[in-house]
Amino acid sequence: MSKVKYYYDPDTLSYRKIEPKKSRKYRNISLFFLGSFLSGFLGLILLLNTNLVNTPRELSLAREVKNYELQFELLSKKMEQIEQVLANIEDRDNNIYRLYFEANPIPEEQRRAGFGGVNRYKSLEGFNNSEMIIATTKRLDIIQKQMVIQSKSLDEITKLAEEKEKLLAAIPAIQPIKNEDLTRMASGYGWRSDPFTKARKMHWGMDFTSPKGTPVYASGDGKVIRADNNSSGYGKHIRIDHGYGYLSLYGHLSQYNVKRNQKVKRGDLIGFVGNTGRSEAPHLHYEVWKDDQRINPINFYYGSLSAEEFENMLKYANQENQSLD
Ligand SMILES: [Zn+2]
Repeated sequence: MSKVKYYYDPDTLSYRKIEPKKSRKYRNISLFFLGSFLSGFLGLILLLNTNLVNTPRELSLAREVKNYELQFELLSKKMEQIEQVLANIEDRDNNIYRLYFEANPIPEEQRRAGFGGVNRYKSLEGFNNSEMIIATTKRLDIIQKQMVIQSKSLDEITKLAEEKEKLLAAIPAIQPIKNEDLTRMASGYGWRSDPFTKARKMHWGMDFTSPKGTPVYASGDGKVIRADNNSSGYGKHIRIDHGYGYLSLYGHLSQYNVKRNQKVKRGDLIGFVGNTGRSEAPHLHYEVWKDDQRINPINFYYGSLSAEEFENMLKYANQENQSLD
């Protein structure tokens, strides 16, 4: 209820009621409404700034954030799988491939090394989710580095494999005379009695007995470095340089099928069995050299012989009989 105001009227000498002006009345009413509207609005703003009420936009943003979190979790799981697969590949790389090709394993620290020095992740700092984003970025950086190292390792292994293939092709690894052409396995590497002096002496190669004119084959890839009769005892003979320190020698030939400096492949026909030089009967005297030392050729035939043939050859070659030189 509004206060009733009075004033003193000197004419009537009495207090009279002040009648409120109509315009003032209206002004008061509108002020009242404006006031209540403003306070209501202010209240609403304050309410919206609390978490008690959400606007539709806030609700949709919240849903979106939830969705991001879910997606992030899925990505994180996938990243974990990738890390596991990569770890498995690295394991095989170190323990099978690199081991097989005699390359040093790449240490774990080197494969998983992070990035030192300047803070690469500074730009990601200062947000609510910075920690999660930085951790994930670090993980991805490490995965990326692991991939680069792994890829380089495989490049290296490819190279080593090619080298190994060349090495395997070069090693004198087959018998220089076909089994069916052999009359008998005459004599192997080791102490034998000399066919001429009958004294015990070291026989540095293997003798394959075959008729004169039997084909002789190169036992590995290489280059003919000699095909001549100028080495005492060997008669007409061929020497093939296989690289990697390997050399093979074929003695007492009747004929050459190659010339000096000619490149040959394993299995190429290089000459024919004969009886030239210090030889008692037609046979091939065969030697294998490694780093200027003559070694036992019998250790190299596994490529061309069956297990049984190899056993037989081993038996005959180890008998201490007379060599044909
Ligand atoms: Zn011999």
